[in-house]
Amino acid sequence: MSKEMNSVNISLHPMGGGPKIASELEPLCIFGTGDMGRSLGQRLLQTGYKVMYGSRRPLSCGPLPPGAQVMSYVDAAQLANVVFVCIHREHYDLIETLMSQLKGKVLVDVSNNPEKKMYPEANAVYLQKLLPDSHVVKAFNTLSAWGLQNGPADACRQVYVCGKSAEAKQAVAEVATKMGLTVLDRGSLSAAQELEDFPLQLFPEWRLPLQIAASLTAFFFFYVLIRDVVYAYVDEGKDISFRIMVSLANKVFPIVSLIMLALCYLPGVIAAFLQLYRGTKYRRFPDWLDRWMLCRKQLGLLALAFAFLHVLYTLIIPIRYYVRFRISDYTITQVKENQTAKFDTTLAWGSDAYLSIGILGFGFYVLLGITSLPSVSNALSWREFSFVQSKLGYLTLLLCTIHTLLYGRNMFLRPSSYKWYTPPAFLLSLVVPLVVLVLKLLLLLPCLDQRVTRIRRGWERTKCQEEKTLLT
Ligand code: NAP
Repeated sequence: MSKEMNSVNISLHPMGGGPKIASELEPLCIFGTGDMGRSLGQRLLQTGYKVMYGSRRPLSCGPLPPGAQVMSYVDAAQLANVVFVCIHREHYDLIETLMSQLKGKVLVDVSNNPEKKMYPEANAVYLQKLLPDSHVVKAFNTLSAWGLQNGPADACRQVYVCGKSAEAKQAVAEVATKMGLTVLDRGSLSAAQELEDFPLQLFPEWRLPLQIAASLTAFFFFYVLIRDVVYAYVDEGKDISFRIMVSLANKVFPIVSLIMLALCYLPGVIAAFLQLYRGTKYRRFPDWLDRWMLCRKQLGLLALAFAFLHVLYTLIIPIRYYVRFRISDYTITQVKENQTAKFDTTLAWGSDAYLSIGILGFGFYVLLGITSLPSVSNALSWREFSFVQSKLGYLTLLLCTIHTLLYGRNMFLRPSSYKWYTPPAFLLSLVVPLVVLVLKLLLLLPCLDQRVTRIRRGWERTKCQEEKTLLT
């Protein structure tokens, strides 16, 4: 941006006088000398604005950013056309007393509430009701005082703006842009409630995937605990509780990972069958399916995290005391008994195939995770992204399922695997992936594939039937 552009700004004049070009940055007013007021003032001063604070205690309000002036609310309100209201909603009665001084001015409401639905209307709407002759704009509330102090880092670059007056929003957007922030217009003041709820969200899209991951982990942990540790103690009187730390963990993590990966692809196939059944893509999916589809990325990333844990736990197997003891004990026994074990080619093939397919599956898994990162996915075309996430995704699921099948290759038919008549945990982990793969295979049949493709291009069964009946 040129020097000339920097020194020119659009100032808004009271009562809709329209934007006017001024030769230098206009003075801005901040109500409240608290955390938000001070951080915002510091950034505005750094941008080159003259900042005037309104305070109840101008002489004893504590340290303010160097260069700022502080005065009473009444005096400050008269000196600027744009006023940042950095005080809590409970104290808006103070602003109501300044109605005449704030007439026609832009009031930037930065407030949030500690909880959702605390008040019947949004704070900004309430402020507009208190001061109907001012132009209230909701903005800056999604930034934190801490973030503002740290500069426009990626996480706090966006400023959402909404308000009734387009000119008032323009004036606030000018200020935000000069501060190096990105402005997103969210429309009228009716969007204020949504903006005020925004900072109160706590990873909303991660909640369901985390609940699924926690439930699966807890279920399979207790399942293998009972089948391995408790069974050994009750049936054979052996205490193998030390296996909880590594062996059990390394059984549970891959199981959860595989099921969660399959859960990423299950809603897609359910949606396809639903569209086939309904004969149209124009009917909304049930809410649960919509919700499930929306959290597929988070499900996949959590599945990848569990796969990483499985890899790390597998890498430490050779340095475990238990493993080293078993190997040396076996070797010594063989030496003592003067025995030699025969090399089993079938076993070697099985073990190498199991490991190799597991590594390949993990490689594709990592690729899927990388392409879901915004910086990478933004660089891909929609076709490239869907190729990686769909085709490579199914390939990953197939490889990981084969890896698990090979893991249990010797255990499927062994009666001792069914302790207390329960199937081994790896067998349970195969249910969802196999269901997904079989359903996907069915969808690949030309008769179904062509029908789904037509439906997704807008074809509707009912319309087609209506046309046929009209013709006959
Ligand atoms: P704060 O530190 O408590 O400051 C609030 C300021 O309001 C006080 O310093 C005070 O300034 C003024 N005030 C006016 N009348 C008051 C009264 N009757 N009692 C107490 N104070 C009164 O709060 P803050 O963290 O700066 O937050 C201010 C607003 O910004 C809130 O609506 C908050 O939701 C919003 N916000 C804050 C953050 C953040 O990170 N802190 C982020 C986004 C939005 P004087 O003593 O100078 O009059």
